[in-house]
Amino acid sequence: PEAITVGELANRMAERVADVVKALMQSGIMATQNQSIDADTAELIIEEFGHRVTRVSDSDVEDVIDSVDDSEEDLMPRPPVITVMGHVDHGKTSLLDAIRNAKVVSGEAGGITQHIGAYQVKTDDGALLTFLDTPGHAAFTSMRSRGAQVTDIVILVVAADDAVMPQTIEAINHAKAAEVPMIVAINKIDRPEANPDKVRTDLLQHEVIVEKMSGDVQDVEVSAITGQGLDELLEAIALQAEILELKANPGRAAQGAVIEAQLDVGRGPVATVLVQNGTLRQGDIFVVGEQWGRVRAMENDQGKRVKEAGPSVPVEVLGLNGTPEAGDVLNVVDTEAQAREIAAYREQVAKDKRAAAGAATTLEQLMAKA
Ligand code: GDP
Ligand code: MG
Repeated sequence: PEAITVGELANRMAERVADVVKALMQSGIMATQNQSIDADTAELIIEEFGHRVTRVSDSDVEDVIDSVDDSEEDLMPRPPVITVMGHVDHGKTSLLDAIRNAKVVSGEAGGITQHIGAYQVKTDDGALLTFLDTPGHAAFTSMRSRGAQVTDIVILVVAADDAVMPQTIEAINHAKAAEVPMIVAINKIDRPEANPDKVRTDLLQHEVIVEKMSGDVQDVEVSAITGQGLDELLEAIALQAEILELKANPGRAAQGAVIEAQLDVGRGPVATVLVQNGTLRQGDIFVVGEQWGRVRAMENDQGKRVKEAGPSVPVEVLGLNGTPEAGDVLNVVDTEAQAREIAAYREQVAKDKRAAAGAATTLEQLMAKA
């Protein structure tokens, strides 16, 4: 059911709506600006105006977006992207804060404020690690369902004084479903009631066999409060990353995923984007979900203006035409026309889907009433 409103058709041809309405009338079709006409009718009108018809399809979108194939010699190592998961109150936020405060990539002492929902740290060995703040469990699954696989490694935080709890199990299931390797951080090891071996044996029941139990899942005892074990945890992450041999091609058009997005009163739509492949540059034209834009400005995790962002780098992007959703995939394209066209196509597909879903419920409701 491909269709387009008269207004949108006029817009895309850069013709006046009144002229399009008139042309339709001459073909015996009465339609106003907000009414939809089918694709065949639209095609006739487009030809009448002397424009070329290009129907966008899923495969066209893929052609525009995946026009670069990364060859082996273009691939460079990239930092791992890490998500922290675990039961409520087991110390996810505290651990992220402790790591950020100890290791954030910054020359400035103290006063590091949370700027965007992701940050990078450098280990003592010089390895860069990218941590995502936001994805809780719900965000993790909704992002995956929108097509974005952003995480390379999951840190499963389990409090040593509480052991495995329902959301611990949920997190294990998410990581397994996404086929993302886990590292177990046994937190609150400073607590007198801490019983790390209870955590290890509990995990066995969920088929997570840690190294201390002769398995291959790394486990590290940590305290987000005292800082004990933090370096060891970062080393474990760096080791896991090495095993994964994570690579990307910084030389290609950027592809990324939206970590969070909102409409800012002063700055318009703002999105935190994790670059996953290629390099995102100021001035780049992109499509992101049903939105498109041109990178007007970018800020890194410390609120500093940057002109470009490579693989695994999180940046805040300004210059969007609308607010995308977390999990939307961003792709840089060559022209504004392509960006507009793909965004409009996706919007239409989404509308059709909603309409179909709406029709289905109505039918179900009718059946239920009958
Ligand atoms: P989250 O819900 O998983 O994000 O957990 P939080 O980071 O908010 O921590 C929950 C509570 O546990 C807070 O009161 C923290 O101060 C405390 N906490 C977190 N990590 C530790 C730790 O390593 N040791 C101790 N003693 N308390 C901790
Ligand atoms: Mg928290």
